[in-house]
Amino acid sequence: MIPISPEVNYIELYFTLKCNLSCHYCINEHSTVKRHREELPVDRLIKAIERLDFSKHILTIGGGEPTVRKDFYDFVNNLPSRVSIDLLSNLQFDVEEFVNRVDRSRFSTGKTGAYKSIRISYHPSTMNPHALIEKAKYLQDNGFSIGIFGINHPGNTEANIEMSEIAREKQIYFFIKDFLGEFYGTKFGFYKYPDSVGQETLKSCKCRTHEMLIDPAGNVFKCHRDLYINEFLVGNITDESFVPEFTFRECSKYGDCNPCDVKVKTNRFLQMGKCAVDIEF
Ligand code: SF4
Ligand code: SF4
Repeated sequence: MIPISPEVNYIELYFTLKCNLSCHYCINEHSTVKRHREELPVDRLIKAIERLDFSKHILTIGGGEPTVRKDFYDFVNNLPSRVSIDLLSNLQFDVEEFVNRVDRSRFSTGKTGAYKSIRISYHPSTMNPHALIEKAKYLQDNGFSIGIFGINHPGNTEANIEMSEIAREKQIYFFIKDFLGEFYGTKFGFYKYPDSVGQETLKSCKCRTHEMLIDPAGNVFKCHRDLYINEFLVGNITDESFVPEFTFRECSKYGDCNPCDVKVKTNRFLQMGKCAVDIEF
């Protein structure tokens, strides 16, 4: 099996970039993101994943909304048992079907209460908070590790207060993450490399990522910018000669980085101060 560097601290398979919601600030919805990609059939994805030695690494299944694919359950249920999974979702799926069809032991378990293996995004403009909490509670009551994550977008303030109250009452974990982007001309977010975002003049650099980002076609990218634009792939997991490398790579797009890559962030263990990339000039 092909090892994955211990320096890689996050592996996400973007199972699809399509979504069943249309949130107004979605980076997938209103940008140059190429949502419609080839989506590898489940058997090819599984075969490719079987070649990789995940060791203690977790495979995060995200999107878009991964559950919109009709073969979502085939994928989850046929992954090698040695691979623990996390799920990023908007929870717009049938939770009873989920409980009936998914073995909860497939999901990773965190050492701290702050780590949740099913991380639900809360988007007030497209979701009813009470309905979302009820579904989350149903999953939690059936043994799944659930957290709901809001965004501190200035327009979400009231909705986040309301969600905090409902979540507290139902004993569901709710955490508010940083909004990254502009609101009325003000830039939000904390960036390790502040001039890496939203610049007209781009620079060349060397960049190394601690994340392995895989698109629905199995292509691996060095950052979210490249993945969303579908540019500069570094390999494909179905290619038998592909070996994931933790290394600095040339990049001429510094200044057009995606905020997700260069932000100072809270990781999935809720540790603050992490950044996905190291950049050198
Ligand atoms: S749920 Fe997420 S991926 Fe879907 S539209 Fe909203 S922000 Fe975008
Ligand atoms: S410098 Fe920015 S655009 Fe280039 S690889 Fe790194 S994160 Fe991506």
